[in-house]
Amino acid sequence: MIILVLNSGSSSVKYRLFNMDGERCLAWGVVERIGSRGAILKHNREDGHQIKLAGDISDHTKAIEYVLTILLSPNHGVIKDRSQIDAVGHRVVHGGEEFTESVVIDKVVMHQIHDCIELAPLHNPHNIKGITACRALLKDVPQVAVFDTAFHQQMPDYSYMYGLPYILYKRYSVRRFGFHGTSHRYVSDRAASMLGKPIEELKLITCHLGNGCSTAAVSCGISIDTTMGFTPTEGLLMGTRTGDIDPAALLYIMSREEIGVGEANSLINKHSGLQGISGISNDMRELEEATAKGNERAELAVNMFVYRVKKYIGAYAAAMGGVDGIVFTGGIGENSSEVRKRSLSGLEFIGIELAPELNNSDDSEERFVDKGGRVRVMVIPTNEELVIARDTLELVTGM
Ligand code: ADP
Repeated sequence: MIILVLNSGSSSVKYRLFNMDGERCLAWGVVERIGSRGAILKHNREDGHQIKLAGDISDHTKAIEYVLTILLSPNHGVIKDRSQIDAVGHRVVHGGEEFTESVVIDKVVMHQIHDCIELAPLHNPHNIKGITACRALLKDVPQVAVFDTAFHQQMPDYSYMYGLPYILYKRYSVRRFGFHGTSHRYVSDRAASMLGKPIEELKLITCHLGNGCSTAAVSCGISIDTTMGFTPTEGLLMGTRTGDIDPAALLYIMSREEIGVGEANSLINKHSGLQGISGISNDMRELEEATAKGNERAELAVNMFVYRVKKYIGAYAAAMGGVDGIVFTGGIGENSSEVRKRSLSGLEFIGIELAPELNNSDDSEERFVDKGGRVRVMVIPTNEELVIARDTLELVTGM
């Protein structure tokens, strides 16, 4: 079965085409700068063939049409006819309280995803555009929605509620939802497999550290707590987001700087975090270089970053009454041995001990990086697209 996986953002569409016999990724790529001049499509084929094409791509329908053309192209493609695509799986950022798992998209589901726009105004409208474009281009091909929030929807109420008047939860669904769920689910399943135990017997802490960062406490395969909240702004320090902050501090800044909601939103999501503290970059590689050269603000940003990861690992070990494994994933989690080392330093008292030679290796495969003690530490490259393809296969073949 051939499955197309799409991740439609505001100005980009990322795609992967899987042959699920053997879970082979036949082709992948991205259309960038949709709607602006100089839109480009970067396309890669399983055999190593790569191309970059410029085009006039005014909207998501044109972008997906372009992707289909490339996938079918005699020179660059991997399939001969559109009819070979058996199903499409879409990443959808917010599924609200409605969606606790992936679903086949029908009219009712479309309405419900629309209803979640209020909760994710920057993401869900673009996910919807991708779905609508596929409906127009691929007619009756079944489509599946896989939600970033779904994996966290079994959190207990005491973990997802905020200490606001209860009526505001009822009125506006203001609560912790959590994000990166597809990634936390994938790496916790892989961790169970690496540990050779059923996930139902494990307490795992999964750290997704990329541009956006979140940690989850996964007990017996269920996310019982996670650092991102009502929006992705809460929790760890991120590339440009504040993470945890006293809400009254933001009100104070809004009053002193005389800024409104729009500017405050931009302040906490686009100008804060590693970028805001260092004044140099949101990119961990650049900050590690600047720290090595003695830049104090870069050092402060990195210190804050690793301290928060450590703090949440401690908190989640307490929340679960122990921990069997810690997983690092995402661009920083997978690649920065320094961040892993510093986030775990001083945690020997709960049984965590990294093996420096394993932690420092450049291996890009999933692996253990600890000394083999009580709490295992793993680096697992995430693969959200594969989870989307697997869910799509399962739902479509079970239809
Ligand atoms: P996104 O959340 O946008 O998918 P990624 O998961 O690709 O982002 O993570 C991007 C982050 O990973 C950036 O901060 C980048 O600096 C960091 N990163 C990538 N490679 C390395 C590396 N070798 N060392 C340190 N940080 C790295």
